[in-house]
Amino acid sequence: LNHADYIRSRIRTVPDWPQAGVQFRDITPLLQDPKTFRVLVDVFVHRYMDQRIDLIAGLDARGFILGSVVAYELNIGFVPVRKKGKLPYTTVAEEYELEYGNATVEVHTDACQPGQRVVVLDDLVATGGTMMAGVKLLSRLGGEIVEAGAIVDLPELGGSQLIRQAGIPLFTLCDFA
Ligand code: IMP
Repeated sequence: LNHADYIRSRIRTVPDWPQAGVQFRDITPLLQDPKTFRVLVDVFVHRYMDQRIDLIAGLDARGFILGSVVAYELNIGFVPVRKKGKLPYTTVAEEYELEYGNATVEVHTDACQPGQRVVVLDDLVATGGTMMAGVKLLSRLGGEIVEAGAIVDLPELGGSQLIRQAGIPLFTLCDFA
């Protein structure tokens, strides 16, 4: 089993959550098992260790779990991209479309310095709206987006294609078609 297949085999699929017809890909088993958690984190650490990355930006909320540990191991900083209304200092915001309605994410205005090399991480790419919003925020602060990364891609929802068409390099460890 390669790393991707190993990680994929340990993701739990929960049918009809949060609503009927949705197959929710649950990454909590990856975190709960120490060996799996280590393999997961190490894939990302090894991927970025020789890329002169300055900063990891993690998306609220599961992107915090992966992103902060990867940043710690790379000995670089971590910034949270948060849902609207959570950050106390001055922020920049990006609104994006959800299936029903809109969502907004924010970062602090001093979260990134111009020219810093940034990796944006989340657990999963579906329609790509969340990841693109995070990428746009860090770009607006002058960050150079080296890559967007996630554990899971749901390619049928089109997000990964959208992100790559926008010229953003995207790495996903495994996918569920
Ligand atoms: P998108 O914005 O449509 O790409 O949705 C991705 C965001 O929704 C990520 O922040 C995910 O954490 C969350 N998400 C959507 N579907 C799933 C799923 O099946 N499992 C876990 N998270 C999901």
